[in-house]
Amino acid sequence: MKVAIYVRGDELSIKIAEKIKKKLASNEITIDDENPNVVIFVGGDGTLLRAIHLYIDKIDQIHFIGVRTGTLGFFCDYKPSEIDEVINRLKNGANSKKYRLIEAEIATNTSKKKIFAVNEIRIENPFHTLITNIYIDDFLTNAFYGNGLNVSSQLGSSAYNRSLGGALVERGLEILQLQEIAALSNRSYRSINSPLILDPKHVIKFAPVAKKTIIGYDHLTLEMDEDYTISIWLSDKTFQLIHHENNTYFDVLNSTFMKDKVEDKKWVLMIF
Ligand code: NAP
Ligand code: MN
Repeated sequence: MKVAIYVRGDELSIKIAEKIKKKLASNEITIDDENPNVVIFVGGDGTLLRAIHLYIDKIDQIHFIGVRTGTLGFFCDYKPSEIDEVINRLKNGANSKKYRLIEAEIATNTSKKKIFAVNEIRIENPFHTLITNIYIDDFLTNAFYGNGLNVSSQLGSSAYNRSLGGALVERGLEILQLQEIAALSNRSYRSINSPLILDPKHVIKFAPVAKKTIIGYDHLTLEMDEDYTISIWLSDKTFQLIHHENNTYFDVLNSTFMKDKVEDKKWVLMIF
C-alpha cells in the first residue's frame, strides 16, 4: 500500500495531516505522493474535488478516504479523533464505493478537449443572456435562454445543483441531472423549468450561440471565446471512496440540512 495525504491549506488540517503521517510511519505504511493507491484527504468536500483532479490520470486505481476538519460533509466520513480507525480500515482492505466521474468533450472548429468532474459540469454567462440549443442524444429538446445550465452527478446533487433547486439524489444511484440556471421564461422563451433526471446512457449536448461563456467543472473553469459544442456523459472513469460504516446517506443529510428532532412538543403546539 502506498499512501498520499492531500491537505487543505488551513492550520488545523495541516496539524491533523502531521498526526496522520506519524501514525502511517509507526504502522510502516509507505508514503508516496507521486504514485499512491490510497489518498487520505484532510479538509472538506472541496478538498476531495482538488485531490481527484490532481490524480486524475491514475484515478481508477486510487481509493480515497476523508478526514474532516469542518462540519460533516458528503465525502469526508472520518473525524480527526478516528485516525486509528482510518489506518485500520486501510490495513484490513476496507470496502469502498465506486463512483463514476462526469466526462465532457469540448469541440471547437480547430480543437477537441476532454474534461472530467466529480460534482458537475456547467456552462454559464453571468454578463449576457446565454443562448444555446440543448440536445439529448442528438435530439434537439429545447432552445435555452438564461444564465446557464448545470449537469450534475449523484455526488454533485448536494452541491451547486441543490442551490439551483435540483433534487438531492441518494448515494448509489447512477444518474445525470440537468438543471437550468436563471432561465428566461415568458411568452417568447420557453424552458423545461424543472430538474431533469436522466438515465446515464444519454449524452447531453449544448451548442451555445453567444460566444463568451464559462465552462465550470467542479472548482475549475475554462473561459470560452469562440464557438463550441460541449457533450456531457457519465464516464467510464471511476474512483473509489471509503465511507464510514456507521455513516449512511441519511446521517449526512440529517446533519447537513435537517433538524435532529422536535425537542419540545409543547412549543410546537403553540405555533399551530
Ligand atoms: P468549495 O469551497 O470547494 O466548495 C463550495 C462549498 O460546497 C463548500 O462548502 C464545500 O464543502 C461544498 N461542497 C462541495 N462539493 C459538495 C457536495 N458534493 N455536496 C455538498 N457540498 C459540497 O468551492 P469551489 O472552489 O467553488 O468549488 C466548486 C464547487 O462548489 C462546485 O463543484 C460546486 O458544486 C460548488 N458551487 C456551489 C455554488 C452554489 O451553491 N451557489 C456555486 C458555485 C459552485 P466543504 O466546505 O466541506 O469543502
Ligand atoms: Mn471549501
